[in-house]
Amino acid sequence: MLDIQSHVSLKSYNTFGFDAKARYWVEIDTDAQLQTLFQLTEFLAVPKLILGGGSNLLFTRDFEGLVIKMSIQGIEVLREDASHVFVKAGAGVNWHQLVLFCVQNGYAGIENLSLIPGTTGAAPMQNIGAYGVEIEQVFDHLEAVDIRTGETRIFNHAECRFGYRESVFKHEAKGQYIISNVTFRLNKQPVFHIDYGAIRETLATMGISEDKLSIKAISDAVIRIRRSKLPNPAEIGNAGSFFKNPEISKDQFETLKTEYPAMPGFPTGDLTMKVPAGWLIEQCGWKGKHVGNAGVHSKQALVLVNHGGATGSEILSLASKVQQSVEDKFGIRLNPEVNIV
Ligand SMILES: Cc1cc2nc3c(=O)[nH]c(=O)nc-3n(C[C@H](O)[C@H](O)[C@H](O)COP(=O)(O)OP(=O)(O)OC[C@H]3O[C@@H](n4cnc5c(N)ncnc54)[C@H](O)[C@@H]3O)c2cc1C
Repeated sequence: MLDIQSHVSLKSYNTFGFDAKARYWVEIDTDAQLQTLFQLTEFLAVPKLILGGGSNLLFTRDFEGLVIKMSIQGIEVLREDASHVFVKAGAGVNWHQLVLFCVQNGYAGIENLSLIPGTTGAAPMQNIGAYGVEIEQVFDHLEAVDIRTGETRIFNHAECRFGYRESVFKHEAKGQYIISNVTFRLNKQPVFHIDYGAIRETLATMGISEDKLSIKAISDAVIRIRRSKLPNPAEIGNAGSFFKNPEISKDQFETLKTEYPAMPGFPTGDLTMKVPAGWLIEQCGWKGKHVGNAGVHSKQALVLVNHGGATGSEILSLASKVQQSVEDKFGIRLNPEVNIV
């Protein structure tokens, strides 16, 4: 049985806390329910929005269609070989709960991605990443339902076309598939990534020396860092990093570096550099600024926040002001990471 509701407030279903409404709403708990949805012919032509934890969405308006809240649960070890364990999780599994399950069982590969908000089904959408790791490094395949036909299809790694905060689901396949389950290929032998951000220092503060390193220690360190640095959406509405870190040519980087010697950058290829968007925004004087009820976070300039009562359009208007000033000062165009509805 499917419980299709009308005029549902999305306020508690998006981490910005915007009070947008869904014309129709359905929550999907099982693969079978997802199939049933496609037998409801009256909804076939209705526009659809797939919702996970709402932690990467910016609603600028009500959604005049059907919001499909993905809540399929279940974590299952499918099989293992000498080096890997294959773990399948339902789209609605809370991402951090999956990380904890893997850490507790000694399955390595996603410990650096601890405490990223949202669901497992949304994780491949933007190839979630943090602290030097992206899910594509342990991704095996996913199951998705074609929104036009209701048919299930498997996407392997190559077919997902992962990139930095990118996948095929944000481009050619945008809005066309409902991801129902994701399978990861985790490592029995951990490869520790501790050179990114403050992981090394935090481990030292925790009294963990290199010979005591474990995936649990890394997960704990990442949790500590994230709790101290990132605003908790339960306290202040936000969707994490609003913009992606821009990639520019090495030539442009060198030219800018003569004018801004402190500008940080990381090589992403022989000819390209990635520049932290937060640094660029901070240099334009935006850190901690309020514009009405919208603002730029005081500790992390990459995060736009709803101080209470802001609308999605106010956040979007602030975002375009930020974009313009970064472009005017550095000649670099910032692109949003957040999905705008
Ligand atoms: C405080 C904070 C910190 C964050 N830190 C990070 C970080 O370190 N790294 C990072 O990569 N991200 C980060 N994010 C962004 C966010 O957590 C991730 O993008 C997460 O994967 C979004 O999951 P969700 O379930 O909330 O997706 P939603 O916001 O519900 O949806 C995001 C997009 O995916 C689509 N979608 C959702 N579920 C499905 C599905 N089952 N099938 C098809 N499409 C679907 C939606 O339609 C939408 O386009 C952060 C966000 C916050 C609020």
